[in-house]
Amino acid sequence: MASGTVHIVGAGLAGLAAAIDLVGRGREIVMHELAPNAGGRCRSYFEPALGLTIDNGNHLLLSANDAALGFLKTIGSEDKLAGSDEAAFAFADLATGERWVLRPNKGRVPWWIFFKSRRVPGTHVIDYLSVRRLLHSRRDLSIADLMECDGPLYKRLWRPLFLAALNTEPAEASAFLAGAILRETLARGGRACRPLVAPGGLGPTFIDPALCYLARHGATLRFRHQLRRLVRTDETISALDFGEDAVSLAASDAVILAVPAPVAALLLPELPAPKTFRAIVNVHFKRKPPRTLPTITGIVNGTGEWLFAFPERLSATISAADRWIGVPREALAEEVWKDVLKLTSLNETLPPWHIIKERRATFAALPKENLNRPRSQTRWRNLFIAGDWTATELPATIEGAIRSGNEAARLVRIAAQARH
Ligand SMILES: Cc1cc2nc3c(=O)[nH]c(=O)nc-3n(C[C@H](O)[C@H](O)[C@H](O)COP(=O)(O)OP(=O)(O)OC[C@H]3O[C@@H](n4cnc5c(N)ncnc54)[C@H](O)[C@@H]3O)c2cc1C
Repeated sequence: MASGTVHIVGAGLAGLAAAIDLVGRGREIVMHELAPNAGGRCRSYFEPALGLTIDNGNHLLLSANDAALGFLKTIGSEDKLAGSDEAAFAFADLATGERWVLRPNKGRVPWWIFFKSRRVPGTHVIDYLSVRRLLHSRRDLSIADLMECDGPLYKRLWRPLFLAALNTEPAEASAFLAGAILRETLARGGRACRPLVAPGGLGPTFIDPALCYLARHGATLRFRHQLRRLVRTDETISALDFGEDAVSLAASDAVILAVPAPVAALLLPELPAPKTFRAIVNVHFKRKPPRTLPTITGIVNGTGEWLFAFPERLSATISAADRWIGVPREALAEEVWKDVLKLTSLNETLPPWHIIKERRATFAALPKENLNRPRSQTRWRNLFIAGDWTATELPATIEGAIRSGNEAARLVRIAAQARH
């Protein structure tokens, strides 16, 4: 029996990861993407206001992100990520002017917390034990249910770390997801915590090489091809309705639905899906970074939480940024530029800037929303779900999106084997 065609709907990282896995094993792939380009929430584009190609958002990876690194290796793009050899995170407290570098040691035994020069100023060894309870949390608890969300260590380490990873105010966020982050990063030692960025852009690092790989392996990509309806029987998806055309599915065909949660909820109302989301705002300034500025600086008591130094620009990230969505852009740019001046000792007026407000950047990593994430397998035997919002056991991240795509591909392969 032939293996059939796999239709992948959505060419974000989840869809691309599934396609790369399957096409590499000889499966016939057709991708359907609503937008004129691939990448979804992880993309680069030319921004005329700056005269530069920028990313829709600053994306930070860690050396713990095994699936993301595996994806890059497969598409031949691993060397496009840059990062230091050791886990080192520069921080600045804009209220006090203090600066420090957090330096977890490489191995699993966290001896770094015994050294003042490696840990957060104003904290004591015993403070670091407070997160242990998150490591094995129940799924219905928030971080505030298990630890005190106050004090120097919380404000200077746990809040910035969890806010970046969960894109949700940590006190209300899922303790289970915070525990997953800790297990995959700090609990594995500094070796797993090296920060990695794509200085050449997300598109040239993740998306363009993935598209080249797919083209080389004969996959078909259809852009501006929006799925409107899944035509289904009790047990299978029988056709994909794209409005102006439709695709009938043969018995051996499969579908991977790799669209964002709100779209999946429209296409399959009975599917559980997170319903609340959080924004991320990125403020880009056309100003070459001063040479002494680290690639990433964590900001405490500022408007944003991270400042990225890219070759041609400075760029700040504000997570869980819903309160900034309604603020006029000019005022926000001025506000963030003040932080940049404090951080860098520059003394300049506002350079050309551009703000990107992603309103639904990620699902809100709340305990109740984490319980609303569906598994990849569905009750329709030829339909599988992928996306950072599915039950990956991780927050909405590149790593989670790629793992979900890999998982959907694995299930498609198992289903094909079962038919043979
Ligand atoms: C501003 C910002 C900053 C971020 N920072 C980080 C970070 O620092 N580190 C990190 O790991 N992660 C970060 N993330 C999260 C990361 O970008 C996402 O987790 C990941 O890109 C999600 O990929 P996905 O494939 O699941 O979804 P998406 O990228 O949303 O892909 C879904 C695709 O489906 C398409 N689609 C929608 N409807 C249809 C339809 N009806 N028919 C066909 N196609 C359709 C969409 O156009 C899209 O291309 C950030 C996200 C944002 C927005």
